[in-house]
Amino acid sequence: MTKKSLGYVELEWTCPYCNTRNPGRVKVCSNCGAAQPKDTQFNQAAEDKIITDQEELKQAQVGPDIHCPFCGTRNPGNATTCSNCGGDLTEGEKRETGKVLGAQQTAPSADVLCEYCGTPNPATNFKCSNCGSPLSKAGATVKAQPAAKKRSSTFMIIGILLVLLVCGGFGYMMMKGAQTKSTVAAVQDVSWKRSIVVLGLAPATHEAWRDEMPFDASVNSCSERERSRSSFPSANSEEVCGTPYVVDQGSGFGETVQDCEYIIYDDYCEYTVIELQPVRVVEETGSDLNPFWPQTRLDQGQELGEQTETYRITFIVNGESKVYETENFDEYQRFQLGSKWNLEINGFGKIVRVEPAP
Ligand SMILES: [Zn+2]
Ligand SMILES: [Zn+2]
Ligand SMILES: [Zn+2]
Repeated sequence: MTKKSLGYVELEWTCPYCNTRNPGRVKVCSNCGAAQPKDTQFNQAAEDKIITDQEELKQAQVGPDIHCPFCGTRNPGNATTCSNCGGDLTEGEKRETGKVLGAQQTAPSADVLCEYCGTPNPATNFKCSNCGSPLSKAGATVKAQPAAKKRSSTFMIIGILLVLLVCGGFGYMMMKGAQTKSTVAAVQDVSWKRSIVVLGLAPATHEAWRDEMPFDASVNSCSERERSRSSFPSANSEEVCGTPYVVDQGSGFGETVQDCEYIIYDDYCEYTVIELQPVRVVEETGSDLNPFWPQTRLDQGQELGEQTETYRITFIVNGESKVYETENFDEYQRFQLGSKWNLEINGFGKIVRVEPAP
């Protein structure tokens, strides 16, 4: 992210003694004449107008005001001696800077009615155009990101509810799974299946960034996509910027800035390569205790892939068939037809343990 300056705007402050709004650069209340207190907060004006006047621009850029350590008078950032008492300002306290005041308000705010005579005035006016009374501020300043915060808390609540739901469901499954029953049953039936995947060379389609494709790939099609973001521009990049916002400069002025970054685009391609992949599966099945592997003739360039074996043993429990499955050949060989076994069956009706009956 880089910060981009869009220019400077004048802020305003409210007199704590008479509640009058004053332009940022005014150091003494225009209504009651009180000096601006040290802890005065600057706010955005009713409308953020970018300053074009060269004199005002200089004032905005000199840096934070300095409070005189002897009489408290507010002096511009480039002053060396106090305009009121002539005191040395090197030891003076500088105003705070850098506070984000809110999103830039470019649209004019609604008119403000004078509390004394009811005359509507533009929100940027400090005094009533009819009776001269100080005008209060129209509406509240738009804050930088209140909407985003609210949304994230809603997401958090939904997230917590989901976690509770998943935990509850998981707990229920655990309970049900743990409720086991033991019973003795005889082997009624056995069956086996052994299969082998045959791998062969064939065209396969994949996707990747152009510079990450294998060297022997043939490209089908490419399209530009966002690959990364950077603070700096590059060959194929586009600048994107966030909402402009106003930052207090401590001088009665604010700087309007925008956070920007560059989207870097690159070619994302669909390509074809010839590679080893499953072309067929050969299998053998049977219903005895002597399983064997399927025989297969391999063509040029072909090789054997994954081999799998599954063995099923069927028991009759209370007149119902229950199947026990294993991939262990040594275990399978022990299930002679008619032999008696101790079965442990869980709450879902699944056999979880098999032991020879004594
Ligand atoms: Zn005042
Ligand atoms: Zn002074
Ligand atoms: Zn008025």
